[in-house]
Amino acid sequence: MKLVRFNGGHVGLVEGTHVIDITEREGIDPAAWPPVSIVQIIARYAQTPQALAGNVEGLPTLPLADVRLECPIDWPNKVIAFPANYHAHIEEQKRSKTGLISNFAANGQGFFLKSNSSLSGPSDPIILPPIKGREVHHECELAIIIGKGGRDIPLEKAIDHIFGYSCLLDMVVRGKEERVMRKSFDTFCPLGPWIMTADKVPDPTNIDLELRVNGDLRQKANTRDLIVDIPAMINMASSTMTLFPGDIIATGTPSGVGPIVAGDRIVSVIRGVGELSLDVIQGEQGFHDIWNKPAT
Ligand code: MN
Repeated sequence: MKLVRFNGGHVGLVEGTHVIDITEREGIDPAAWPPVSIVQIIARYAQTPQALAGNVEGLPTLPLADVRLECPIDWPNKVIAFPANYHAHIEEQKRSKTGLISNFAANGQGFFLKSNSSLSGPSDPIILPPIKGREVHHECELAIIIGKGGRDIPLEKAIDHIFGYSCLLDMVVRGKEERVMRKSFDTFCPLGPWIMTADKVPDPTNIDLELRVNGDLRQKANTRDLIVDIPAMINMASSTMTLFPGDIIATGTPSGVGPIVAGDRIVSVIRGVGELSLDVIQGEQGFHDIWNKPAT
C-alpha cells in the first residue's frame, strides 16, 4: 500500500496509475493546521496498515499523473537520523582529507535530530542557501516510518513498530558547525514519494538503494550492509525518547556522498519502496555571518 499526501493536504492510496482519495473517508480536513492528519491516520492503522485498502468503493479516484504529491508526513513528532551507517561509508570517511567529518559510526555515536521543518516533498526542489565556499552534500537514506509508538522497545519487538518505509535525502552543508544547523535548512530533508506500508516490504534486511546526480551513479548499497540494523536503530532511539506514530528514522547513508550544485537533478531509487527525482535550485534565503567563519 502506497500512502500519499497530495493537492493541499488530501490523503490517498496509489493503486497502479491512480490515486484513491481517502480524505473524506478518514474524516480529514485538508486545510487543518497544524497538518497532522497523516500522523493520525498512521496511529489509527498502526497495527493494521493493510486495512487502509478496505472500503474504497465509490471513493474519488484521480490519475496519479494529474496530482501534485506532497511530503507524506510534514508534521511528525520528530525526525531521528543515524550518522554514517554502512561499512563502506565509514572507510570513505576515514580516507577523507578534509578532516571535517566524524570518523565515528552510528554504533558508537548514537543518533541526532533534523528539524521537522526541513522536510519537503517529492514535487519540491532542493533549495540551496546562498553560502559561499561550502559544499552541500547528498545522503541517500531509507526512512523508517514508526507506527505503534513506545519507549525502550526491545530488539525482538522492533519490527512490529514499523508502519512503513520511504525514500529520504539527508542534505547537509559540510563544515564544523552544529550538525543540526547544517542539516536543517528548509528542503534539506526530502521525503517520499509515498509511504510504502511495511506489509509490502517483505525483507527490509535486503533492500537495494542508489542515488544518481545528472545520471551519474554516486551511491549504491544494500541494507544488509547496515552497521546498526533496523531493529537496533528502533531499540536505540526508543531507549532515549518515546517514539510516536509518524516519527521518521533516517537510517544513515552509504558511501558516495558528494556535492550538488544548482541545476543538478538528483534521482534516488530504493527498490520496492519508491523513487525521488528532485531538482536542485539556488535560493536567496539562508545566509548568516556564521558561515563566513573558516570551515576548519
Ligand atoms: Mn545522513
